[in-house]
Amino acid sequence: MSIFAAMAAGGHRQLVFCYEPAAGLKAIMAIHDTTLGPGLGGCRMWPYASEEEAVFDALRLSQGMTAKSALAGVNYGGAKVVVWGDPGRDKSEVLFRALGRFVHTLGGLVITGTDAGTDPEDFVAARQATPYLVGLPQAYGGSGDSSETTAYGVFVGIQACLEEVYGDGDLKGRRVAVQGCGKVGSKLVRRLAETGAEVTVTDVDPARARAVARQHGARVVEPDAIYDQPCDVFAPCALGGVINDETVPRLRCRVVAGAANNQLAEPRHAAALQERQILYAPDYVINAGGLIQVADELHGFDRDRVMRKTAAIGPMLRAIFRVARERSITTLEAAEWMVRRRLAGAATLRTFYRPGPAGAAGDRAAGA
Ligand code: NAD
Repeated sequence: MSIFAAMAAGGHRQLVFCYEPAAGLKAIMAIHDTTLGPGLGGCRMWPYASEEEAVFDALRLSQGMTAKSALAGVNYGGAKVVVWGDPGRDKSEVLFRALGRFVHTLGGLVITGTDAGTDPEDFVAARQATPYLVGLPQAYGGSGDSSETTAYGVFVGIQACLEEVYGDGDLKGRRVAVQGCGKVGSKLVRRLAETGAEVTVTDVDPARARAVARQHGARVVEPDAIYDQPCDVFAPCALGGVINDETVPRLRCRVVAGAANNQLAEPRHAAALQERQILYAPDYVINAGGLIQVADELHGFDRDRVMRKTAAIGPMLRAIFRVARERSITTLEAAEWMVRRRLAGAATLRTFYRPGPAGAAGDRAAGA
């Protein structure tokens, strides 16, 4: 597919290529939708096999950010930055400073931070060149690690799912199978264990799974066995693509609700889950806690406000489930419908004339 055809299909607005040979930087900034505000999205550093792969990843990820912000009640649009490079080999101070300069050229249209392959410390160098960054270390005025907030959002989301399926969100005695005991998974296991759930865990790093299990009284299974566990909730907290043709028939749960991004191998797997009467919490809704946290840095970080906004993931999921029921559509389709509705509502405001310092020009400058 050509790049413009892909942008047309996805509804993207802008794709910016950044090249600084002295820094060894090849980066792409994708801007999907700015109806709600400037594009906000992390910076992924990855050794893509080809230029095409990097471009399409930037397009796909920026589109996801529009949806995530829209339903998290965050007033930002969708963007993503990808750096084509090996995070284990190619990182340097000058690379991130160069990236910061490119981000700055867009004057705040793109605000970025950490994602796979980058960490908060990398952006300390980028901060020399631009203020349009989030997710900096706490010592530099950022909000620090977002995994606790993400885990909290997944926890309240699981309660909303149980309420939908059983009429009661209480976790006591409910069985939850958690795939991945990393930053988010381990904190989710802690919350689940504290509320009396029976937790089964797995991780490709067996020592990590054993440590989390020992600490919180969970049971450990082999990575591939996690799909076969009889349970109430399967919580993917590791990789994307784990809900696929091979795994859907194996699942023995009533709910799929976890932190991982892009859990469905393809959108049609939402329908496959529904056919098996498994409730799916759309990943970009339930895992939005981290985004809510970093976006809050742009207003002067306030942890209580972040936790309150993250708690609203529960009511948002209930609304999605209601729309899905009323319209006989999948929960993924319902979430997409609600994204479109929020964007359409915000877009209508642009038809109002809003006086600014330079009349209509001021209106545009304010991004109204
Ligand atoms: P992490 O790297 O700390 O943890 C991932 C864990 O999964 C690791 O322990 C890894 O060994 C394990 N793992 C990898 N492949 C596995 C497999 N096949 N089976 C079992 N375990 C496997 O990452 P994280 O920050 O905890 O994020 C987990 C997921 O949640 C990712 O998909 C991430 O994109 C998503 N997410 C994270 C945040 C956040 O705030 N950290 C926010 C939104 C979404």
